[in-house]
Amino acid sequence: MHDSLDERYSRQMLFAAIGEDGQRRLLASSVVIVGCGAIGAAAAGLLVRAGVGRVRILDRDFVEPSNLQRQTLFDEADALAALPKAAAAERKLRAVNSSISIEGLVADLSSQNAAELLSGFDLILDGTDNFETRLLINDFAVSSRRPWIYAAAVASYGLTLTIRPGSTPCLACLLDSCPNGHGIDATCDTVGVLGPVVSLVASLEVAEALKLLSGHPEALHHRLLSCDVWTGRFQSVRVAQNPACRACARREFTYLSGQSQPHITLCGRDSVQIHERSRSLDLAALRHRLAPTVSDLRHNDFLLSFRVDPYQMTVFADGRAILKGTKDPAVARSLYARYIGA
Ligand SMILES: [Zn+2]
Repeated sequence: MHDSLDERYSRQMLFAAIGEDGQRRLLASSVVIVGCGAIGAAAAGLLVRAGVGRVRILDRDFVEPSNLQRQTLFDEADALAALPKAAAAERKLRAVNSSISIEGLVADLSSQNAAELLSGFDLILDGTDNFETRLLINDFAVSSRRPWIYAAAVASYGLTLTIRPGSTPCLACLLDSCPNGHGIDATCDTVGVLGPVVSLVASLEVAEALKLLSGHPEALHHRLLSCDVWTGRFQSVRVAQNPACRACARREFTYLSGQSQPHITLCGRDSVQIHERSRSLDLAALRHRLAPTVSDLRHNDFLLSFRVDPYQMTVFADGRAILKGTKDPAVARSLYARYIGA
C-alpha cells in the first residue's frame, strides 16, 4: 500500500479485524448513499474518511437554514446559495479525502432511474426520509441480490437494520410484521429530530458497512437496533423473515416496476414534489422570463428558486420542482403550469 495511505488509515488498520487486508478491500469497494440529509451526510463523511474507494451520493433537495442544526456537512454559505445537497457534499468530501472517487448526483430516485443509479455498487445505504423510496431501494436490492442498510431517525429515536437478500429478512418483511411501529408515521418535519440521534444511527449504519466491505460478514449482528438518546433506551430485536413477503418471497417488485410510484409526492411539512415529466429545462432562459413577475429569485448551476406568495418554488434542471406552502397536488400542478409551463 502507498506510504501516505498507510499513514492516513493507520489507526483503522491497527484495529485487528480490519488490518491491511481489510483496508485494501475498503479501498476497492463502492457504496451508493441514497439521500444526503442528516443521516446520509454523516454516513458519507464516515465512509469517505474510512477510505471506501468509490462513494456516490444521490439527493434531490437543496440546503436550507433549518438543515444546519444536524446536517454536519453543510454550512451557512451552502444554505445562502441554496446549493443542492449532493453538490455541496461532493465538494466538502473531496476536500476531506482526495484519494478516492466521490460523486454527488442531484437526482430523485424513481422506478425509472433506480437500475441506472444504483447498479454496480457493493452496498446501498439509506439516507432517505420516506418509506416510498426505502421500499424502492428494497425492491432493487432484493431483485438484484445486493445488500443495503436501512436507517432512520425522528425526534430522539432512531433505528437501523442490515438487509442481505438471500440470507436475512428484508424491509418489506419488517414493515409487515409491525405496520404501525417504529414511529413510521411521524416525520422530522412534524416532531423534529435531535442531532445526536442522527449521528448515532449513521455510526451504527457505517459500522455495519465497514464489516461487510472489509470482508467480515460474520461480524454483522443481524438485528434491528433501535435507540433513544433522550431516555437512554436501547433495543436489539431479531426480525423474522415473512414466508409470504411480497418482495423477498413472492418477488413482486411493485415499487421497482413503478406500480406504486406516484407522480406527485408530499415531501416534508407543507411541501409537494412534482416529477411528472422528465425534461431538460433552460434555467437561464426561465430566470430571464420569471424575473419581472416573481420575488426572491435565486439560481445556481443546478436549480432556480423563487417566491410567489405564499408559495416558494424550486425548479431543477431536469424539470422536477418542489413547492413549499401547499400540500394540495392540484395547487402544485397549477403553479407549475403557470410559472414553468406544461
Ligand atoms: Zn421480505
